This record gives sequence, C-alpha cells and structure tokens, in this order.
Amino acid sequence: MILRSVRARLTLWYVLLLAVILAGFSGGVYLLLRHNLYDNLDQSAQSRADTLLGVVIYEEGRPTLPLTASPDPSSAEESFARVFDAAGEVTFDGSAAAGGAPIDRAAVDRALRGETSTRTATVGDEKLRVRVLPIEGEDGIAGVLEVGQSRDDVNDTLSALLIILAVAYPVTLAAASAGGVFLAGRALSPIDSLTRLARRITAEDLSERLAMELPDDEVGRLARTFDDMIARLDAAFRRQRQFTADASHELRTPLTAIKGQVEVALGKERDAADYREVLRSVNEEVDRLIRMVASLLTLARADAGQIPIATEPVSLGDLVVAAVEQLRPMAEQRGLELGVEAGPTVALQADEDLILQLVLNLLDNAIKYTAPGGSVTAAWSAGGGQAQLRVSDTGAGIPAEHLGRVFDRFYRVDSARSRDEGGAGLGLSICRWIAEAHGGSISAESEPGRGATFTVALPLSP
Ligand code: ADP
Repeated sequence: MILRSVRARLTLWYVLLLAVILAGFSGGVYLLLRHNLYDNLDQSAQSRADTLLGVVIYEEGRPTLPLTASPDPSSAEESFARVFDAAGEVTFDGSAAAGGAPIDRAAVDRALRGETSTRTATVGDEKLRVRVLPIEGEDGIAGVLEVGQSRDDVNDTLSALLIILAVAYPVTLAAASAGGVFLAGRALSPIDSLTRLARRITAEDLSERLAMELPDDEVGRLARTFDDMIARLDAAFRRQRQFTADASHELRTPLTAIKGQVEVALGKERDAADYREVLRSVNEEVDRLIRMVASLLTLARADAGQIPIATEPVSLGDLVVAAVEQLRPMAEQRGLELGVEAGPTVALQADEDLILQLVLNLLDNAIKYTAPGGSVTAAWSAGGGQAQLRVSDTGAGIPAEHLGRVFDRFYRVDSARSRDEGGAGLGLSICRWIAEAHGGSISAESEPGRGATFTVALPLSP
C-alpha cells in the first residue's frame, strides 16, 4: 500500500542504495587500515630485527644476543627476540620469561635456507606478529633471529574503528533516510498540487489552469504541458460548441423561411399558380438545406477521419479544364468571362473527386462573388516540388481583416449577400480540408474592389 507512493519508493531505493554504498565504503576503509597497520607493524619488527642483527655476538661459533637485549619479564608479552644456531637450537630466548612463544620449526628451517617469513604467535593471551629471518655469518647463514611484536595496538585501533563504524552506519543511514523523505516530499509536492488542481478541471469548465509558478524543471514542464493541453482542449470544445450553434442557426434560417411561406399559403384559398410559386420557393430552400447538410456531413466525416483519400494519378490541367467547362453555363448566365491559363502538364497523386470538388468550389465562389462584366481565370503551374492552382477573379475581393478567416467554418464576409447566393460559409472550410488532407495548403490574397486570388499548393507526385 505504502509502495504506491513514489515518495516512499524513492526513499526506499535511496536508503537501500546508500546502505550498500556505506557498507562498501566502511568495509573498504576497515580493510585498508588493517592492511596498513599490519604493514607498519611488520616494518617496525623488521627495523627492530635490523638493530638486533647489529648486536649479535658469537659464543663458540653459535650466534646469540647479549643479555642487555632481553626485555624485562613484564614487557615480554609486548615484544621478544629469540636466536637459533645453524642447527636450529635455541641460543637466546627473550620470551621465556612470559611463558615462551611456541616455536614454528618450518619457519626456522625456511630462514636457515635464507627465506624471511612472518607469522602470528600467541604468548599468554597476547597475539604477536613474529618475523623470522636468517643471521648472515662470515661464511653463510649462521643462525636464525626471531622478533615478536605485539598486535595489541593495532587490534585496539581496529576495534575502535569497528565501534565507530557500527555506530556511524545506522546513524548516517537514519539521517539520510530522514533527508530522503524530506527531499522526495519537497520534489514531489508540486505533483500533489497538480493532481488536486487537475481534479477540479472538468469538461464543463475548462477555463481553469494550474498556472503554477514552477521553475523550468521536469515538474514545471509537466505542469505547463498540462496547461497547454487543457488550453487546446478548451479551444477544441469551444469550436465544437460554436460549430453546433452555427449549424443550428444556419439550418433554422431556411426552415423558418419554409415555415413562413407554407403558413402564408395555407392562410387562405389560392389558385394553382400561387401554390406552384410557393412550392418552387420551398424547393429552393430545401435544396439549400440539402447542400448545407451535405457540407456538414462532409466536414463531420472529415473530422472523424472517415473519408478515405484515394491516391491515383491525376492530371491537374485536365481536372481544371473539366471544372471550367462544367461551370461555363453558370458564368455565361451571369455575364462573366471564364478563362483558363494553361500551364505545364502536372501529375499529382491525389483523390480525383476531392480535387475536382476543390476546384469547383473555388470557381463557384469566384463566379458568385464577381459582378457581371468581370472575369474569372483558372491557372496552374509547377515548381519546387509543388503544383500550384490559382483561381482569380475581378470581383469585390475580400477586405484584409477577413482574409485570414474566410477558411473558418460558417465564416462569411457579408452574411446577407452570401446567404442570398446560397452559401453557408462551409465551402472554403472544405477546400482547406481537401488541400491539407493531400499534404498541401490553401491561401487567399485580395485587393478589395479589384478581385481575389485563391492559391492551392499541392505536393507533386515523386
Ligand atoms: P460561402 O458558401 O458563403 O461562399 P465559403 O466558405 O465558400 O462560403 O466562403 C466564405 C466567404 O468568403 C464567403 O461568404 C465570401 O464572403 C468570401 N469569399 C469566398 N470566395 C470569394 C471570392 N472569390 N471573392 C470574394 N469573396 C469571397
């Protein structure tokens, strides 16, 4: 249960790691010190041996030490010296007073062969480091000198160190654990506040932000990323709500018109021509509704990613010419000149139906928003890995402040005028979606009063 808290887990890992590191460190210090102390002890035994070798005397050709070299009995347990002759017989024994250190025959024999060695011996309840070394006579090895040096001081130092470590280890560990708990708590406390704040943010109220004053570290970045995400969600929800409201509004207008006309028609007896007139008008409104619902459906399915985009070889020029021919009657009816500025052959990998719809939408707009006597031109070109399609007209154009928004859903520069023309402000949204779905883009330029130009850039097929 407690391990579900990052703080507890973090502290636990930290303490475990520290315990291992401390144990390694303490062990290392202890072993190193022990090694050095024994080394020193051996060196001091060696230097005492060197001194004694200088005062070796020979009695009947056998080496021994003068009596002055023997310690007083009370200190025999601290240090002693012993001398053997070439036959391995003891000729001097300074440890005898304290009970005598056991003789290691093998070590004596090795020394007689010229080999120096070190061993541990027990005198009474003392442990001594014993150095066994050959006595070089005038002709070869004359005997063996054995020097014992108490290990007591070394052992005392080592046990003191052990006690210090045994106390310091748990104390350090406890202090570090407390520090770990504190630090983990401090580092993680913004996350707790983040969680509490995040709980307050609901789909109904996305206006809340964490807005925490945090430094630019991991937690600070998390909080800011979270805020950015909520902001994006907020914008998306707003757009969704706005879209629903706009759609309802747009659908209500023709429905209200239909209802009004039907009610007036039903108000009193009328002749057949009047009824026909009402039905014709209702039919127009229903057409408008059908177009709008079709556009809404296209956008909704596009949003949901449900419209499959075919990738087939498409000749942009052929498509533009086909669209122009399809709309020529409409342009002529409005007294407009509709022309094509043919460019090079441009091959695209695209969805033919969608690209045709895009060109038709742009041409349809240009024809709708250009007064009689004007002209509409479609052109295409290729360059820089891109195909460019341009539809320009000599109409009223689009004021600069509206240029950036004409691709938004339901956006119309002049609602009254556009609605009469039958648009709900969805055509350019669909154009933008088609361009982007093909990895391209769409933009608009306009000089108000002198016309507008819509440019679509599409990636060329590799
Ligand atoms: P609509 O269905 O109203 O035409 P669109 O999304 O196609 O909707 O266009 C959005 C708005 O952009 C239009 O209402 C119109 O005001 C403006 N617009 C589009 N094309 C042109 C153009 N060629 N000339 C002037 N205004 C245009």
